[in-house]
Amino acid sequence: MLTQNLGYPRIGGQRQLKKACEQYWAGKIGFAALSHIAEKIKVENWQTQLDAGIDLIPCNDFSLYDQTLDTSLLLGAIPQRYQAVLSQSGDNREVDLYFAMARGYQKNGLDITAMEMTKWLDTNYHYIVPEFKADQQFRISNENIFNEYTKAIQVVGQKAKPVLIGPVSYLLLGKEKEEGFERIDLIKNLVPVYVEIIDRLGKLGAEWVQLDEPTLALDLSKKEKEAFEFAYRSIAEQVSGVKLLVATYFEALLDNTRLAVGLPVHALHVDLVRAPEQLDEVLALVPDQLMLSVGVVDGRNVWKNDYEKSLGLINRAVKKLGADRLIIAPSCSLLHSPIDLDLETELDPEIKNWMAFARQKLAEVSDLRQIAEGNNTLLEANKKAIASRRSSEKVHKQVVKDRVAAISEAGATRMSAFPVRQQIQRERFNLPSFPTTTIGSFPQTDDIRQLRAKFKKGDLTVEQYEQSIEQATIDAIRWQEEIGIDVLVHGEFERNDMVEYFGEQLEGFLFTKNGWVQSYGSRCVKPPVIYGDVSRPEDMTVRWSTFAAAQTDKPMKGMLTGPVTILQWSFVRDDQPREVTTNQIALAIHDEVLALEKAGIGIIQIDEAAIREGLPLRKSKRPYYLDWAVRAFRITASGVEDRTQIHTHMCYSEFNDIIEHIAAMDADVITIETSRSQMELLQAFAHFEYPNEIGPGVYDIHSPRVPTTDEMTSLLAKAAGLLPAQNLWVNPDCGLKTRKWPETKAALENMVAAARQAREQIETASII
Ligand code: GLN
Ligand code: ZN
Repeated sequence: MLTQNLGYPRIGGQRQLKKACEQYWAGKIGFAALSHIAEKIKVENWQTQLDAGIDLIPCNDFSLYDQTLDTSLLLGAIPQRYQAVLSQSGDNREVDLYFAMARGYQKNGLDITAMEMTKWLDTNYHYIVPEFKADQQFRISNENIFNEYTKAIQVVGQKAKPVLIGPVSYLLLGKEKEEGFERIDLIKNLVPVYVEIIDRLGKLGAEWVQLDEPTLALDLSKKEKEAFEFAYRSIAEQVSGVKLLVATYFEALLDNTRLAVGLPVHALHVDLVRAPEQLDEVLALVPDQLMLSVGVVDGRNVWKNDYEKSLGLINRAVKKLGADRLIIAPSCSLLHSPIDLDLETELDPEIKNWMAFARQKLAEVSDLRQIAEGNNTLLEANKKAIASRRSSEKVHKQVVKDRVAAISEAGATRMSAFPVRQQIQRERFNLPSFPTTTIGSFPQTDDIRQLRAKFKKGDLTVEQYEQSIEQATIDAIRWQEEIGIDVLVHGEFERNDMVEYFGEQLEGFLFTKNGWVQSYGSRCVKPPVIYGDVSRPEDMTVRWSTFAAAQTDKPMKGMLTGPVTILQWSFVRDDQPREVTTNQIALAIHDEVLALEKAGIGIIQIDEAAIREGLPLRKSKRPYYLDWAVRAFRITASGVEDRTQIHTHMCYSEFNDIIEHIAAMDADVITIETSRSQMELLQAFAHFEYPNEIGPGVYDIHSPRVPTTDEMTSLLAKAAGLLPAQNLWVNPDCGLKTRKWPETKAALENMVAAARQAREQIETASII
């Protein structure tokens, strides 16, 4: 029985890579210094995996920015617009090119945009999307993978296993940049380059090569399936002496099982954490010779492996295949988990004993092999930890469980239907047509950030801190009144992050000191950990909302984060279904909504920024998810009076496939991001005849650019052409936290002017 790892975090235990990259970009260190740090991390990572007793140790899983971008450079898929970078003089042109593709290039009179970035399947890791043209050619364009393999053998010898994104997934995860072709057809051009790469790796001594094909676990067209067959048949025919391992993850193979096990490769990796149910079918269909890598240790979460459960899976596979055809592995690359639990010195030891980060997960893989081979002592300690988690009062709160179990249909429904509520709310708030508002946060200046940091460190008293936050809030309110915003916000100056702020006040959450995970490039996030039943010991936002409301006669919006977003941006429990955890959070937010209502806050926004990104990868699994996700939102708003107006906000607007579910959330007002698509994306709402009120963003907050009044007026006219004008709100695309005050002020003044123009046009009936 072998063990393997599919990939290891590359940011370094102290986020050394992040710091080094940022220093390099700022011109504070040279490329030699950056490389030096990168090499050190690689060697440490290899050594760690070697020490843990892993047999197949990945190399080429390292990246200075992103492994998909590295693959594009390896394959020579470099968009034309970057050629200008290469024709500059200087020693670092290759490096400049690399970071230009990642981050854009504004130097020496050139101004080149970065390549697009998007989420790596259903993770929070963002990759650089490959760009393809109809006549796209590929050729080996750099030597990194070969150099890295050569280095890896110096540290781990024969155990080094080069990792590459497989050819089909590389194409499918990219994008056509011109009309008239399908990127999957490029497989014919691409495969010969893979053949050459794998062949060269074999000649350098590689025994195994891992090809990541996560798309093999997605819904595939006939043509895409054929591309898999073609690609792997061609590679198998032309390369000899190298064992190929195809890695799938994040979903079950389902209807692609036959295809996957039929590929002419040496081993197939399957994710048995996400989809343990696929094991039986895989085992039933697996042909003689094919080795199976079973991903039994969760590469995407922070919990200690339940050895008994994993052994159940391993033993079933051993029974069918024999031990020598089995490889034990994490479910996917460990890129998605924090690095080292040993660095967490302040965690509650009881809870810490239930957790495992990347380094600990390697030990688990190794343990599992030893146990499967008969070493039972390792099993006992694990059983104890798992049992303690299962019964701990820190995790299990019967009142919370009972409350979730008792949620009824009425507990997920507003009192009256929307038309009734709308009438009552119109009378109550008496807002003009095209009411103006913002999404919640105002610029987080350095002063505000420092204030919060100092307070956290204990350098400020509560009074000092609160007084400064009060002042910032008052200033923001005065200013909103001055420019004539209709529904005000308090500005969220007291919040560092929209999930962390709530997590810190809820029971069942913990925060790590070093649990960083790469999000994109040098950006890392430290998600909260939900370890136990969630409850809300006290009011969370009432203090700041009521303070703000008392400063003005205008309506003040209360601001909350929704349950799915809190879930989605945290490490969640793996000992109960996600929907149960979500319902617990929903009840906590529900209680907060009622507390705000009782305190006199008439308009409450519950942000669900992440509903869409929780969508399962497989279409067949989406309806179930959408049902519980929408229901969780409805729980938060149930029991609220008809006269209270519930808003929600989403940072995107691709709603075509989920519009009926968005409508089922039944928010009185939804604000979305539409400016960059010039209201194009509002079509889904128009088609559906979306009945409730809606604020399509009229300006892009991702750029410092100040939009003109006319621009925004014409966007509003466009929106009024698609939806009833009396249902439209006027607001930016998203929160203004990342912007500076001068551009924010200018843009919002123009926005208010645009709303006024739209009102006049309505009166003169020039827009309807
Ligand atoms: N209310 C939040 C803010 O304005 C919403 C942020 C978001 O949608 N990502 O910052
Ligand atoms: Zn947003």
